[in-house]
This record gives sequence, structure tokens and C-alpha cells, in this order.
Amino acid sequence: MYRAVEATRDILPPESERWAFVEEAARRVFGRWGFHEVRTPIFEHTELFTRSVGDTTDIVSKEMYTFTDRGERSLTLRPEGTAPVVRAWIQAGTGAEDEVTRWYYCGPMFRYERKQKGRYRQFSQIGAEVIGGAGPDVDAEVLEMVMVYLGELGVADVQLHLNSIGCADCRAGYREKLLAALGDMDGWCADCHRRRQDNTLRILDCKADREKVQSLPAIADHLDDACRAHFEGVQAALTEAGVLFVLEPHLVRGLDYYVRTTFEITAGGLGAQNALLGGGRYDGLVAGLGGPPRPGFGFALGVDRLIMILPPQAGTPDASDLFIVTLGPEAHPLGRRLASALRRAGLRVEFPPPGRSVKSRMRQADRGGSRWALVLGDNEVARGAAKLRRLADGHEVDCPLQPVTELLEVVRGERG
Ligand code: AMP
Repeated sequence: MYRAVEATRDILPPESERWAFVEEAARRVFGRWGFHEVRTPIFEHTELFTRSVGDTTDIVSKEMYTFTDRGERSLTLRPEGTAPVVRAWIQAGTGAEDEVTRWYYCGPMFRYERKQKGRYRQFSQIGAEVIGGAGPDVDAEVLEMVMVYLGELGVADVQLHLNSIGCADCRAGYREKLLAALGDMDGWCADCHRRRQDNTLRILDCKADREKVQSLPAIADHLDDACRAHFEGVQAALTEAGVLFVLEPHLVRGLDYYVRTTFEITAGGLGAQNALLGGGRYDGLVAGLGGPPRPGFGFALGVDRLIMILPPQAGTPDASDLFIVTLGPEAHPLGRRLASALRRAGLRVEFPPPGRSVKSRMRQADRGGSRWALVLGDNEVARGAAKLRRLADGHEVDCPLQPVTELLEVVRGERG
């Protein structure tokens, strides 16, 4: 027996309907904010990620699915969506300096992560990127859009955690303060000892030593004037838009390209892995990947986690409009014609093969939540009419059958 690869899974109905539902809601809401969809390949040249996400990050150093293809190229299944979108934007030919591009994407990402609840090796993200637009309004507008999206989906206990990690200049000064506060790092985990050398800021993301992290100096206290003004601008714009947030002075993200604004949104019901989405500003990334110096801002949301906390009724498929049961050799072809005509006309019709008893089929129709049922036997064929039964209350309506199919066939142009 073959099984799905460890830490991957099949999304089966009815859960798959919820996936379509959140993706459609994203298209609808993001469209209102002027975003358009972009679809990039699932794999890219490995260097795209090593150069953007960063060599020393967990993603690049431990988690990428990298392989050599038959043309001896090193390729990697995308572990995140921002670098591919920026690559696509540069490749498509860049616009004028004051142009702002708003793109969103949905699709699978791949990371070789430790197996745990809420973490998969193939998972799906919905993300949005704004390329161009350096002002704090961009950050606030995108955050507002995400909050509206989650609100419309009915996600509960949503909290926006906001920070600024400044630019490279602010960070150099901050790093000195951080190193001084860390001292000889007695009692810190092995990962953090390693990070001290190659990616000091990531110590703030240590999950093992959370309390110690809280006592470290806050990066937001070491911002230069321009970075501080940007951070204050974001907060003011959010407040004006009525978007609540909490400042999280030690929030850093697992990708190296972020500057200034970083954020995470958590939601109730997720347990330990309560981050639903994260993102921030990446003003150096476009130039770093060979494009013009353009600012950028974006986020990525974990769809697997979003699905876990959707209200139970959200995205459940509509039950069928009509369940047709046939009895006898003549009734079945009539049922088939009816089902076909009604489906083409836009109704959801269930039409199971003959064989089982009417009683068993009616139980099936009830269980599936069908609105109406129609039983066709020799009697109904002979009289060209049948009783439509509303399953919720047993109300019955006697309906002629033939004229309906004829009318539909004529209207559809299938009969003269
Ligand atoms: P990141 O790209 O690391 O900033 O992650 C953004 C969001 O993607 C997280 O908040 C999670 O909701 C989701 N995510 C990241 N990694 C995984 C994973 N391995 N399995 C499921 N969801 C993930």
C-alpha cells in the first residue's frame, strides 16, 4: 500500500471545499484592494532562495527540497512565495519608478520541517506583495486588508503583533547592544549559540528561552529617525483605519530580507503553532535580486492553519437541490434526461444508479441534506408527472415532467 509522504497529506472532500472557499474569499477581498493574481512555477533556481531568504536561515540551511535536474541545474521546490514573485516581477520587465504593483498568489510551498501538529512539508500559502510604494500607508493598507479578510471568514481571536526591526544601519547598533546584553550566553540553547555568530537577531526568535528573550533590549528602541518615523506612521495609519494591534518588541521573522515593519497575526484555536500569517517590508529585496531599487511589502498566510480554525459552517458545500430516485427500466432513462436538463440549467442534482430500494435512497437523500426528492416509477412514467417532495417538512407538489425537459431542450437550442 502506498501512502502519502510523511508530513504531507491529501485534502479530501468536504475539507477541500473549505480550501476553495478561503481561496475564493481571498480573490474577492484582495481584488477590492486592487490586487491581481500571479502564478509562478513550483520550482526555481536554488540560488534565488539562498540569495534572498538568506544562507543562515533555517529555511535555507535545513529545510529546502533541493535537487539536481537532468540538465545538472540545482533547483529547489519553493519554500516561500515572495522571492519567486519578485523574480517574476523583475523578469516581466519593471515599470516606472512611481508605479505600484499589487500581486497575490495561492499555492503549495515545501519545507523539510520537523513533524509536528500544524506543520507540514507541503503546505499552502496565500500571500500578497506590493512592489513600489515605500510609505507607511502601504503597510497599514495591506494589514487592514488581511484583517478584513479574516473577519469576513469569521476567524476568531485574531491579533496583529507589530514590530519594526529597522534597517541595516539601525541593526548594526542594536546588534552591539544585544551582544552586550547576551554576555557569554550562559544557559541559552545550542541553536542560539550558533546564531550569535551568523544571525544574531534570530536569537529573539528562540522558542526555548522565551523569558530570557523578553529581558533583552528591544530593537524598536534603537531605530534611526527615518525608521522610527515609518514605524510611527504605520501605527497612526492603522489606528485611523480602526485596526487594533499590539506592539511586540522582540518580533523578528525567519527570513533575512525583512527591514522595518515586521508582523505576525495569531488566531485562537491554533495551539502552540498559533501564527496564522506573517510578513513585513523588504525594501532591499528587489535590488538584491538584480532589479531596480524598489521597496516591497507583503505577507504569507498558512492555509492549512486557516482551515483548522474556520467556523464549522464556513465553506461547507451547498447540499443538492434535488435527489432523483428511479424504479424500473423505463423510469431510469426519464430520470437521466431530467437530471441532465436540470443540471445544465444550473441545479445541483443527485442521480444515483438504480438498484437500491427507494427507502434506502430516501435515507441517503436526507443524510446529504438535499432540498427536494423525486421518486420516478412506472406510474409516474405513465402519467408524465410526479410528486416532488420537500425533505425538510414533507410538503409535496405534483409536477408534470415532460414539458420541463422539452422547454429546456428548446431554449438550449437542442430541439427545433
Ligand atoms: P513564513 O513563510 O515562515 O513567514 O510563514 C507564514 C505562515 O505560513 C505561518 O504563519 C504559517 O501559518 C504558515 N506555515 C509556515 N510553515 C508552515 C508549515 N511547515 N506547515 C504549515 N504551515 C506553515
